[in-house]
Amino acid sequence: MLDIQKIRNDFPILNQEIYGKSLIYLDNGATTQKPNIVIDKINSFYYKFNSNIHRAVHYLSGKSTEEYEKARETVRKYLNAKSINEIIFTKGTTDAINLVAFSFGERFVERDDEILVCQTEHHSNIVPWQMLCERKSAKLKVIPVNDKSEIIFEEYEKLLTKKTKLVAIAHVSNAFGTVHPIKKITESAHKVGSYVLIDGAQGIQHIKTDVLDIGCDFYAFSGHKIYAETGIGVLYGKENLLEQMPPYQGGGDMIKTVSFRKTVYADLPLKFEAGTSNYVAAASLGEAMNYINSIGLENISKYETQLLKYAETQLSKIPNIKIIGTAKKKSSAISFLLKGIHHYDTGAILDKLGIAVRTGTHCAEPAMKQYGITGTVRASLSFYNTKEEIDALYRGLLRVVRMFS
Ligand code: PMP
Repeated sequence: MLDIQKIRNDFPILNQEIYGKSLIYLDNGATTQKPNIVIDKINSFYYKFNSNIHRAVHYLSGKSTEEYEKARETVRKYLNAKSINEIIFTKGTTDAINLVAFSFGERFVERDDEILVCQTEHHSNIVPWQMLCERKSAKLKVIPVNDKSEIIFEEYEKLLTKKTKLVAIAHVSNAFGTVHPIKKITESAHKVGSYVLIDGAQGIQHIKTDVLDIGCDFYAFSGHKIYAETGIGVLYGKENLLEQMPPYQGGGDMIKTVSFRKTVYADLPLKFEAGTSNYVAAASLGEAMNYINSIGLENISKYETQLLKYAETQLSKIPNIKIIGTAKKKSSAISFLLKGIHHYDTGAILDKLGIAVRTGTHCAEPAMKQYGITGTVRASLSFYNTKEEIDALYRGLLRVVRMFS
């Protein structure tokens, strides 16, 4: 059992009033709040260690570099990756996916090859592949989902051919919370010789992620969605693939030697980390992962699953509610509409009650099109949320329904 009150005390932002009401933060899919330990890490970095990483001989730079590389090792362990060479620090999920689309695309994708994405992907896992397909005259194909928002596995397998170069799919859908069977998806893709990228932006903070067990070739995520600072993310990639891929950007840090005749690139992982990385945010990510480990991700997952079930049960009682995305396996997000009430209005009224939810397309326009809607209201949960907060959401929604009836 988690001591939620104790956990909530670790997150100072939660303890405040908005419009005279206690803040109820249910927008964790967009970004998570930060525990004291992470805020302290950032502060202490600037108070004590700050200096640009790598290369310099002086003490502070050594200390900064040590913190940065310590965070890389923490991420490696968290993902169960084989080597720190497989952990590339990026700006976030979007940056990590763009890195693969550019660099993997450059090396591996040719005319008429095919890239598969799922119908419900976030724009970050659609647009970079469209851009790649345009550059290379390759084709983007879409894995369909059923009306519960689960991928239709037989249809997926039919799309897999020798032409498939990459399957790019979310671990967890940000729009509807569906947990995709990424291990099975990876196994099928590998059978036809395709590579697999998992967009872990909504998976890493909720579900134990073991990249060796999943077998995926790439896994991308953002620090800010896992209780760390913004401006940092991770691309996990299998070392033999990363070795074959050209650098994404050129500049300092990603080189061994530079001359006007020839530049020799740095070894992994620095080959993909051109310029000054957000090393303070990287250290905050290491700290956030230590924090999660201290609570136990299994405990977090269990609690969040119970809370989601409770939210589904409570919200189902609201007259004329339609929950969108009713997959058997879901994590942490509940998307819905109230009949005849625009999602924006619902969100705006909830806001005045101190309840933060997100409304709109959730950067997944094709997913909305599939349901013939312009958006949803999404409550996305974290382990610092409580049943009492779900009850307040329930009462808030009843109030919205009454106001519009
Ligand atoms: N993929 C998914 C599934 C997401 O939920 C998000 C963020 N909403 C992203 C990608 C993009 O993440 P970021 O903006 O941190 O790069």
